[in-house]
Amino acid sequence: MFATRFAPSPTGLLHRGHAFSALTAHEAARRAGGRFILRIEDIDTTRCRPEFEAAIQEDLAWLGLDWERPVRRQSEHLADYQAALERLIARGLAYRCFRTRKEISEDIARAPHGAMETWRGAPLPPGEEAARLAAGESFAWRLSLEAAEQALGGDLDFVEEGEGPLGEHGVIRVDPALGGDVVLARKDVGVAYHLAVVVDDALQGISHVIRGCDLFQATHVQRRLQALLDLPAPVYRHHRLLLGADGRRYAKRDRAETLAELRAGGMTPQALRRELGFD
Ligand code: GLU
Repeated sequence: MFATRFAPSPTGLLHRGHAFSALTAHEAARRAGGRFILRIEDIDTTRCRPEFEAAIQEDLAWLGLDWERPVRRQSEHLADYQAALERLIARGLAYRCFRTRKEISEDIARAPHGAMETWRGAPLPPGEEAARLAAGESFAWRLSLEAAEQALGGDLDFVEEGEGPLGEHGVIRVDPALGGDVVLARKDVGVAYHLAVVVDDALQGISHVIRGCDLFQATHVQRRLQALLDLPAPVYRHHRLLLGADGRRYAKRDRAETLAELRAGGMTPQALRRELGFD
């Protein structure tokens, strides 16, 4: 059955770009007679806030969307991600990384979908690792691309029914290096975006992942994790990013005008839907 999801992280208020994404997924589900799922990706307890989650639900309802209940909140399912991590560890596909973010350029562990770098590390020699553990040093778990390549043995593909940022469409060959030794479990919160997403997409029976093309590259990482965990591969439909009047994409960090502000300013949901190209 067709099932898709809108999966915001409650780290701020929604803006037009989110509305476009949610409407795109909702409309696709409606046309296919399928399911539309709202998933709250709140594993980053350092940035997520319950009041943003409440605001997300209020905004989506205002837009006229409906979604299945109960809503899956990732913070309530950490054991599922831990179990997936343990399967990877047991197969020698993950290793402890004690490096600080500073040491490995910056953001891969903090950004919700990670800076797409290709950094590769290696497990520490057992003696050094034991000493660091004994000293109580914190560590992240990373995927070993080298071990993953050996385990997978061949090429992987995913199906793109939408478009990547460079117009990629059709059967896409997974880039074996993209994402590097990606973080599977962060030092601070013990879980990380890519692993949580593939586990949830499988658990929730997502047949079509519909999301912005800023996550196209993340798909290479996620497809690899699906294969390693024997999870089904959804079809992907990345959509263009909505651009503001200044030609730049909407982003929380730029303080893009929020849906709450549009609403307070008297905009109707019908007017916004029309502006975004829906009905
Ligand atoms: N939670 C992610 C975000 O807010 C989206 C994840 C996804 O659609 O796969 O950027």
